[in-house]
Amino acid sequence: MKNKKYFLNIGWLYPDLMNTYGDRGNIIALFYRIKKRGIKCNVLKISVSDNPSLINEADILFMGGAQDKQQEIVNKDLLEEKGKYLKDKIEDYTPGLYVCGAYQFLGKYYKAADGKIIKGLGIFDLYTESPGINAKRLIGDIVTQPFLFKSFFVGFENHTGRTYLGKNINPFSKVIRGYGNNDKDKLEGAIYKNSIGTYLHGPILPKNPELADYLIEKALEKKYHKKIHLKKLDDSLEMKAKKFLLKK
Ligand code: GLN
Repeated sequence: MKNKKYFLNIGWLYPDLMNTYGDRGNIIALFYRIKKRGIKCNVLKISVSDNPSLINEADILFMGGAQDKQQEIVNKDLLEEKGKYLKDKIEDYTPGLYVCGAYQFLGKYYKAADGKIIKGLGIFDLYTESPGINAKRLIGDIVTQPFLFKSFFVGFENHTGRTYLGKNINPFSKVIRGYGNNDKDKLEGAIYKNSIGTYLHGPILPKNPELADYLIEKALEKKYHKKIHLKKLDDSLEMKAKKFLLKK
């Protein structure tokens, strides 16, 4: 497949601050799977000191998780200017993946463990609240059944925030094992247009390559205004790892 005419720019938001539990593995997986299809790819790192208009250049967006301290710094930056650019991209169907703390930012607000309210971007109809500093962390391996895929997804979650979805957003998955959005409704993550929010670290994309290909296809479709089917890759190792984790 000669795809040199195609080019994808991955916009990696706050790689220096929002990057816990191996989240950078998602960038490695996306880059690898794009290049394997003979498509040109670039990773554009966008952080606090960078010009917000860089966000406009991204064909796929990614932001990982963090702890409350980093979330405060990033949130301030997002609310100043970058958030407007990010909102426009999400509303315009740019595919993106937002993990844990990043997922929480897309909602209306995040009430941190110390009770402080961190205002969100209000793009996703949801809110997140931590029950407090002594609250149980929702931590451990997680298995989900995404509504978009036939396969199970595996990952690792570690958060105190409990996310509750409103009426104008769909959950991404059903929880089979673990906690997910909160410890009550057995739902995990959210999907809005082509943007996915999830609590799955792990990182999610190398463990569940179906999702990486989904984001890549959506990005190509949006950029080149036609359906482009990706050549299948040999994912036998990834699937073996997933099977092993599911058995556990
Ligand atoms: N600080 C958030 C919480 O604990 C996010 C954690 C994360 O991104 N891993 O809910």
